[in-house]
Formats: sequence, C-alpha cells, structure tokens
Amino acid sequence: MTHRIVIVGGGAGGLELATRLGRSLGKRGKARVILADANLTHLWKPLLHEVAAGSLNATENELNYVAQAKWNHFEFQLGRMSGLDRERRAIQLAATLDEDGRELVPAREVAYDTLVLAVGSMTNDFGTLGAAQHCIFLDTRAQAERFHRQMLSHYLRAHANRLDDSKMSVAIIGAGATGVELAAELHHAAHELAAYGLDRIQPENMRITLLEAGPRVLPVLPERIGRPVRQTLEKLGVTVLTDTAVSEVTAEGLKTRDGREIAASLKVWAAGIRAPAFLKDLDGLENNRLGQLVVRPTLQTTRDDAIFALGDCAACPLGDGSAHNVPPRAQAAHQQASLLVRSLKARLEGRPLETYVYRDYGSLISLSSFSAVGNLMGNLMGSVKLEGWLARMFYISLYRMHQVALYGPFRTLLLMLSDRIGRSTDPRLKLH
Ligand SMILES: Cc1cc2nc3c(=O)[nH]c(=O)nc-3n(C[C@H](O)[C@H](O)[C@H](O)COP(=O)(O)OP(=O)(O)OC[C@H]3O[C@@H](n4cnc5c(N)ncnc54)[C@H](O)[C@@H]3O)c2cc1C
Repeated sequence: MTHRIVIVGGGAGGLELATRLGRSLGKRGKARVILADANLTHLWKPLLHEVAAGSLNATENELNYVAQAKWNHFEFQLGRMSGLDRERRAIQLAATLDEDGRELVPAREVAYDTLVLAVGSMTNDFGTLGAAQHCIFLDTRAQAERFHRQMLSHYLRAHANRLDDSKMSVAIIGAGATGVELAAELHHAAHELAAYGLDRIQPENMRITLLEAGPRVLPVLPERIGRPVRQTLEKLGVTVLTDTAVSEVTAEGLKTRDGREIAASLKVWAAGIRAPAFLKDLDGLENNRLGQLVVRPTLQTTRDDAIFALGDCAACPLGDGSAHNVPPRAQAAHQQASLLVRSLKARLEGRPLETYVYRDYGSLISLSSFSAVGNLMGNLMGSVKLEGWLARMFYISLYRMHQVALYGPFRTLLLMLSDRIGRSTDPRLKLH
C-alpha cells in the first residue's frame, strides 16, 4: 500500500511541507500526502496584526486549501484534530459544524504511516484574572477581524455622536514583535480613519498603551534594536510602560501588579505562547511545560519515531549545544518544513534522517508604513542592523518568500502586481 504522510495544520510550516511533498512524492505516486486543517483557508499568521488594524484585507490574502491541494498533488481533509491512536496509527478529526451548528463534515479517523503535527501555538495569558473574558487574542483571522470590527464600531459611534467623549483607548499587553507591530499599525489606522472623514476621534485621541512585564520592549532582540523601536513608538504618541506586569483585566481596563489602573476600551493580549490544549498527554507523547511536543533534533517526537512535530507546537533544541529551544517564529517553521521535505523522502527510502540546527537569519520589526527596524543574519555571521525603507523591503520579502514556497515565483510575481493595482483602487484601510 502507498505510504500515507498525514500533516496536521496548514500554517507557515505545515502548508509549505504539504505543498512541496505533494509536488514531489505525491505527483510521482510515491506517497499519499494528506493535509488536515481545522479551517478551509490559510492566512499567514504574521499578517494578523495588519488584519486587526484594517491595513490588510484578509480575504485577498487567504489561500484555499482545496484548490492548493488540487494544484499540488496532495489531499485535503477539513477537520480539527482531537485525538490520536498511536497503536492503530490513526488520528481523530472532530466533526465540522456550519454557522447554524449543523454538521458539515462528520467526525472521522485518518490513518497514517508518518504523521507530522504542525498545529502552531496560542496566546498564553498565564491564567491572568479576566484576560480570557476581556482581552482579544490575535491567534486567528476571526479574532483579528473581531478586533477590527470593534475598533470600527467605536469610530462609527463617535462619528454619530453616540459617545460621551471622542477618545479611544487601546491597551496592548506584551511588547514583543506582535504588540509593537500592532501599536504602530493602530497609530497608522487612526490617521487613515481621520483622513477618510471619521474624524470625531482625532489621531492624537487614539490612546495606545503598550505594557511589558520585562525591563524593555522586544525582550528577545538585542537592546540596540529595542531602544530605537521604543523611541519611534513614543514619537508616534504610544505610551510604553516597561516593568509593568498586569494582574487583572476588567471590562473598563487593566490593573497592574504595582497598583495602577489603566482605562482601556479595547484590550489585546499579545504576551507569550502555549501549545494547543489537545496536545497535552496526546496518547503518551512527551510535552514540556508550555504543552509543546518534545522532539529530537530529527524533529521526531521523543516517544514515537513515526510522529514528527514542527513549528510553534514543537519543543526542539536549538542545536547549538545550549539548553534553549527554537523560538516560535515563522522562519523556524519554514526551515523545519524544508528539512522535513528531505527527511520524509529519506525515511521512505530507509536512509538516515538529517538533524535540525536553527539558523537565525535575524528579525525585522515593522513599524507600519513608517519604517522597520531589525537585524539581519541574526547569530549567523554577527548581526547587521537595518532600519527604514530597506528594512521595510526586507520585512515584506519574508511574506513573499512564503508565497514563493506555496505558489512558485511566477504566480508570486502576478500576486505582487495585483496587490499594487489593488492599492490604487481600494481604500488604504478596510472600512467595514
Ligand atoms: C500577529 C503575529 C505576528 C507575527 N509576526 C511574525 C514575524 O514577523 N516573523 C516571524 O518569524 N514570526 C512571526 N509570528 C509568529 C509566526 O506566526 C509563527 O511562529 C508561525 O506562524 C508558526 O508556524 P506554524 O506552522 O508552527 O503554525 P501556524 O502558522 O500557526 O499554523 C498552525 C495551523 O494549524 C491549524 N490547527 C491548529 N490546531 C489544529 C487542530 N487541532 N486540528 C487541525 N488543524 C489545526 C491552524 O488552523 C493553522 O492553520 C507572528 C505571530 C503573530 C500572532
């Protein structure tokens, strides 16, 4: 029987893997490549803060799994993975319901010979009181769009004189890349909304507070990147509070551990990650304290050679001899997918598997259309600091590289052209 490779999660890593294996093993009939995802469409997760601010239309940037599967010789199964039977080598997918709660696709099992788990991560609110009730997390397109709708509703109410004051306050908890980029994107949105005539809330009255429990913004990047980013944000009018841990979130705002109260109508939690809950004790696989699956340098889970994990859901050693794990980043998911394209072919042919070593090509932080700041080459060759227009171009190229992996260079070029044309005909901000 043909070897069945089942990949669960069509995100930054899983979709690239399914596409590339489909084009090679699937096309030549050497394996059946099956991708399962809880959703019908893929949107590259690093775009979510732009969806939240309205500067990116998710519909125009999403990819349909059914079409991608057809074009790239893999099969697509719609369903959320809910369980695993390692002995029978089968995963369980829960039933998918439509908006009215009717069953769209029934619960079922999918058998595998090789299983790759690439289900990403979720925001970790560390059990903070009120966070789950009152904060928006930016884990999914639906959550990003919900934030956008709430922001727009506030502006429309203000425009119709339905609010007591003409201000809007947003608190962002966590000054990592997501929090920083969202703050800059919202500042940009405030200017755009006023330019379109929704000017009851003047840009300076969109009060954005960025809170960070640690001593500096962008805690995992070098200080010489964090410092100018903080200065730029403050110049834009964003209030940046470091050494400020949030102890409780209420409908009205935040309470900090040092006794301050910060009013905020919209609250976004963007601090920390954890693995999806269903991975915990998944038929005896090993987890770390964040619930990630512990993998060996081959990306095989520690207790089952036939099960691999990649990307945010995997706890993978950096490979540099240190005790640190690979950071939860799109570039890591991309690198691991590339390694598994080779490894899964080797596994089929009974050859030994390669081991993964994380290569840090640097990080770029987008400050909306104003600029980008970051370092290139990361720890690889000593880091090169990059700022302004050039950094912005490199930042955009990260997404283009993901598109090249999914569509090939020619179609990516066409997509770039269509984006350009769209920009001259569509509003610069999503207004609905
Ligand atoms: C706002 C934001 C900005 C970011 N910016 C950057 C950046 O600039 N640079 C960078 O390197 N990284 C960035 N990241 C991190 C980056 O998005 C992740 O590291 C990357 O997406 C991880 O890839 P992945 O393949 O592991 O998972 P994901 O891309 O998250 O994909 C997971 C997939 O699994 C599916 N899934 C989940 N659970 C199940 C289930 N039970 N059954 C079936 N399917 C399931 C999901 O639908 C999804 O398609 C950002 C993250 C966010 C939230």
